[in-house]
Amino acid sequence: MKPFAKSMARIGTESAFEVLARCRELERQGKKILHFEIGEPDFPSPPHVIEATKKALDQGYTHYTPPQGIYEIREAVCEEIYKSRGFRPKPDQVIIGPGGKPIILFAMLATIDEGDEVIIQDPAYPMYASIANYVGAKVVPVRLREENDFRMTVEDVNEKVTSKTKMIVINSPQNPTGSVLSREDVAGIAEIAKDNDLWLLSDEIYNRIIYDAKHFSPSIHDMALERTILVDGFSKAYAMTGYRLGYGVGPEKLIQKMVILAINTISCVTTFVQIAGVAALLGPQDSTEAMVKEFRARRDLIVSGLNSVRGFRCLNPKGAFYVFPNITGTGMSSAECGNYLLEKGGIAVLPGTAFGEAGEGYIRFSYATSQEKIKELIEKLKTLF
Ligand code: PLP
Repeated sequence: MKPFAKSMARIGTESAFEVLARCRELERQGKKILHFEIGEPDFPSPPHVIEATKKALDQGYTHYTPPQGIYEIREAVCEEIYKSRGFRPKPDQVIIGPGGKPIILFAMLATIDEGDEVIIQDPAYPMYASIANYVGAKVVPVRLREENDFRMTVEDVNEKVTSKTKMIVINSPQNPTGSVLSREDVAGIAEIAKDNDLWLLSDEIYNRIIYDAKHFSPSIHDMALERTILVDGFSKAYAMTGYRLGYGVGPEKLIQKMVILAINTISCVTTFVQIAGVAALLGPQDSTEAMVKEFRARRDLIVSGLNSVRGFRCLNPKGAFYVFPNITGTGMSSAECGNYLLEKGGIAVLPGTAFGEAGEGYIRFSYATSQEKIKELIEKLKTLF
């Protein structure tokens, strides 16, 4: 066999999938697993969205669309951005993708070259560093600190900017820590991007899943006309992970480059899925509201529960559906703790190091699971530590 492309050695994977494979093997052997590793809402997609999908199929929405996405969904996205962020982009500033992930990929491929530097939170969602490495760029991590509620500070970002910096990536509410950037944090980072003429990729996929806080988008500073690329989607806000639907909002010239990447890869997003997306954005929002209310109750439950476990210390995150407790009090490393929980307790989690070096000493629990399961988790942890 001929060798594989050298670039394959630079791309990463997501440990979540490896943990899931180990869980499936244990489950096959008859072991019961408590799943706290999965990053997707355990709610059904909204019923009116399902209805709209079926209707779209019956109406024959089964052919190609323009690669940028149908006009109706791009217009609905503009309306959504107006309602939630406070400015109205033009439909030409919007691209529809099969999930938020391909939007992040297209945005990075369209802007980053070999040798460029990309400033990324550490810990962070793994694909940012993976793709930056893949294209031969240098990842410049900004260490998030527990004592600062895992927020990326303006000073920390400023310190990392060099003449080679091309992009800053932010994610608020954040995966894996659940941290939420303040208005000042976001404004300060947007200013650094402006002063140094950088791209600013803002992954806002969890913006609807937020408690006791407000979400701020850097896109308000340039109305996504100059440097900000806003990424959002339907997976988390509408429990539509399997639909594969997301979008990007950015400068028209950049969106056109991303469209070229779409033409070369996906052609377009599944047509009836785009129609369903219009229904999700413009229809009733009660499913999302009910889901967020339940997530808040679960967060309260898991945070107080984890803080009662010996060796665990857990902040009260303001967003997403993850907690990132400090487990150094157990005397174990993240990997040891993750293995111990799975082997001894049948509890699946992700080690903090799956999200970067600064994740050492932490593990991530996703609380996208029932309150009963969370209570069972806490009882079990008390017997293990
Ligand atoms: N961004 C973050 C921070 C995520 O956690 C995820 C999914 O877990 C995504 C983007 C991608 O979501 P999707 O491609 O399903 O829209």
